[in-house]
Amino acid sequence: MEVLKLWSEELEYRRSAFRFTLIVIAVAATVFTLFNWSIGLKAYALIELLLVILSLGILSIVRKTQYLHNWTLLFLFVFYCVILVGISFASFRSGLFAWIFVFPILSYLLLGRRNGQAVTLCYVSLGLGILGWRLWLNDPNIHLVAMANYSLCVAAIWGVAHVYESKREEVVERLQNMAARDPLTGLYNRLHLESVFEQITQSESSPDSSLFMLLIDLDHFKSVNDNYGHEVGDKVLVRVAELIKQTIGENDWGFRVGGEEFCLLLPGTNHASVQEVAQRLQLAIEGSAVSVGEHKVSTTASIGIAQWPESGELMQALYRTADRRLYRAKEQGRNCVVSD
Ligand code: GH3
Ligand code: MG
Ligand code: MG
Repeated sequence: MEVLKLWSEELEYRRSAFRFTLIVIAVAATVFTLFNWSIGLKAYALIELLLVILSLGILSIVRKTQYLHNWTLLFLFVFYCVILVGISFASFRSGLFAWIFVFPILSYLLLGRRNGQAVTLCYVSLGLGILGWRLWLNDPNIHLVAMANYSLCVAAIWGVAHVYESKREEVVERLQNMAARDPLTGLYNRLHLESVFEQITQSESSPDSSLFMLLIDLDHFKSVNDNYGHEVGDKVLVRVAELIKQTIGENDWGFRVGGEEFCLLLPGTNHASVQEVAQRLQLAIEGSAVSVGEHKVSTTASIGIAQWPESGELMQALYRTADRRLYRAKEQGRNCVVSD
């Protein structure tokens, strides 16, 4: 069972950060285009005009695009190159090299820790390299001190950006996990079922792709609680969850959807294999027991199976079919599997 990342929130976070950046850079680049044109730096003014056009162009599509990451990379590439060209030729008095300090902040903000780190390393090295070379040409005697100052300042900003983004990503991942998992068993919860279903069915584009849903309900579970207490009931639920994790494959998903009800999503498989998984799980649950003093507490499970899209195209319809079959398994005496 792989961990599903809820990318939509992350994507929206990056999207709004990118929008804000595009607006700021479009305004700043317009001001610099006009200024540089007025003082006769026409070639650089034209390069900045290109940046304005690119920023406005991306701004017009940034709310909807599916290729946010690629557009961000393209924009940062052009923007950073404009800065590098600027610090290669502009006079020191212009202070243009100060934009090097923006590289780590923007890269981490827009690309996240991993990509931000790589892009920062690449452009900060280039920026400081060009700056050092120009300082040395200007005055070989003082350039080491100046370079040390610039480098330490960039390193400090880089460090802060790195720590901030790493912690932010860690916290987001922890919160996403907490929101998606059942605290007792560690399986995913009912809330997460729909997101996973959507993700699987939207990516299943080939005509022979398949998805099976298994609903599992423990038999006479109330009597476990009544006879041994709620805590023992909880232990049995944890044990069943362990058996589920051991039985399903890497690409399968296990959920606890109610008190003693579990749901499995098994993508890319066939009817015979699913039957085999259901029976293996049923036998494992039947054969496993939780020790309470000298007692051994065991349980059995009834299972209903439905296939997407044949038994229902939408999740609710598929779930209803699996639930009906589970109900029939209960009627047939429990501890059995019904799949049609
Ligand atoms: P059936 O074979 O028809 O499914 O019978 P059942 O007793 O399993 O079904 P029923 O729905 O009547 O009872 C489910 C029980 O599950 C009731 C409740 O006490 C218990 N239960 C629900 N959530 C939890 C939980 O988190 N921990 C424990 N220990 N028990 C729970
Ligand atoms: Mg039940
Ligand atoms: Mg039950």
